[in-house]
Parts: sequence; structure tokens; C-alpha cells
Amino acid sequence: MSASHHQDLIIKVLGNGDSLGTPRVYCECAVCEEARGGGLNVRRRSSIWLNTGEEAPLLVDCGPDWRHQMERLGARRVERALLTHAHVDHIGGLAEWADACRWLEMTAELFAPAEVLHDVATRYPWIGGRLLHRPLEQAGDLFYGSWAIRAWKVNHGKNGYSYAYRFDHPDGGSFAYCPDSIDLSDEQKEPLRGLSLLILGTSFYEEPYPMSTRSLYDVKEGLQLTEEVGAPSVVFTHMSHDIDARRDYGLPAWARFAAEGMELRVSAAKRGV
Ligand SMILES: [Zn+2]
Ligand SMILES: [Zn+2]
Repeated sequence: MSASHHQDLIIKVLGNGDSLGTPRVYCECAVCEEARGGGLNVRRRSSIWLNTGEEAPLLVDCGPDWRHQMERLGARRVERALLTHAHVDHIGGLAEWADACRWLEMTAELFAPAEVLHDVATRYPWIGGRLLHRPLEQAGDLFYGSWAIRAWKVNHGKNGYSYAYRFDHPDGGSFAYCPDSIDLSDEQKEPLRGLSLLILGTSFYEEPYPMSTRSLYDVKEGLQLTEEVGAPSVVFTHMSHDIDARRDYGLPAWARFAAEGMELRVSAAKRGV
């Protein structure tokens, strides 16, 4: 990933759903039924697509809806991706992507912490010839264009842990993608300070259960976290069928829900989103 200068980062939301997506196969709640009719609540598994206009795009996570997401995007190839963790909703599309690379007679690069790539290799031992594993510990300083990329480990509650990614431009612009986390320690919150934009996973609006029994923040906690770390703008993703896109939740002006196809621009200069 080469370095250049003065590039805004365009983030496209490819999916904003939780691990089951919406509609959930088994469920006939009002939100799932509305989604079944092709409505506003259709949610595919969470993933984003980054572009500076000067670099080949960068995919973040490659879940089971990858094929559909590429069709919707109109993209025929992916040259590189970052993975947050090795749960199926984030890696379920890797075998299909590897197969596509075989037909295109190309190789692509898969960046993630070594332990994540280890889990990927256990699940999909045959894809390594097409999706070249790039453990972050060995990749050296990682950049997307001029944007420096940093990964850090975050609590994922009863699901163990995941990683989040922060992107920083030398002119001060920054954003973080943290789709699967809960109950972050002070140390884990540190990389969320000084951001221009936070994209945070929140499955439910409000969960009555103790954090120790859950795996993601809810929306109310997500708003609190955003205020705590001082991010001027937050977009919630990784949502379950609990969130009804037709409903007005009275979110503050600096917070909104991600939608499939939504485009966010992070200015290379500080604070402009
Ligand atoms: Zn997930
Ligand atoms: Zn439902």
C-alpha cells in the first residue's frame, strides 16, 4: 500500500447487519417482515469498502454476503482486505473471493493480526494460495494511501475479542471502524480519542442484560462511549432486527444509523466529515 498525499477517504457501507442479518430466517417480527418485503430493514452482514480514488479500494471484512455486496457495488475484483476477527459474519465470503481470484488468475492480500489469519487458515486451508496472508505484526507500518492504519484488540464480550482499526491522515483526519465490541477497557478506548468519525457496532437499541452476558454495545451505550471519547460523529452498524429503520429514535444530530450503500467522506484534514 503506497504513500501519497492529500486524499480524502470515502467509506462505503456494504453491510450494516449483525451476524444473522435482517430478516432473520426464523423470525416473523415486524422488522423482519418489513425486510422480507424488501424494505428499509434489509441488513446484510457488516462490511465497509474504502477508496481514496488513487488507490485500489480496500475491503474491511468479507462476510457471507460478500458476493451480493460486490454485485451491488458493481465491483469485479478485490485486491486487498483487512479482517477484524475470524467469526463467520466477517469471514464467510473468503472462500468465494479466493475462487474469484482463481478465475481472474490473480492473487490478493489479506491483512489481519496473525492469530486471526491462523483461524482463517484453519477454517479455509485451501485459500492461502490466492489470498496471501499478511500478518500485521510482520507487515511493518501499514498505510492505505497516506492513511496510516493501526489495529488494536477490543473486548467482544462473551464472544472473546475482536480487533478494531483506526486510520489517520498526516493532516489530522481520522476514523475508526469498531464493529464488534463491548465494555472496552480504558486502554482499549484510547485509540478512539481524537477521531473525526467513529463507526461502531451496536446490535440492539437497549439491552437489559448485564454486559458480561453480551457481545456488543447497544445504541444507548454507543452514544455514551462516543461522548466519552469525544468523537464529533458516530455511525452505528452491525445492527440486529431490534432496530427499525422506519422509527425515529431521537438520536442526537451527531449520530446516525448506517444504511447499505451509504457513503461517508472523511476529510484528510482534521474534523471535516
Ligand atoms: Zn460480527
Ligand atoms: Zn425479527
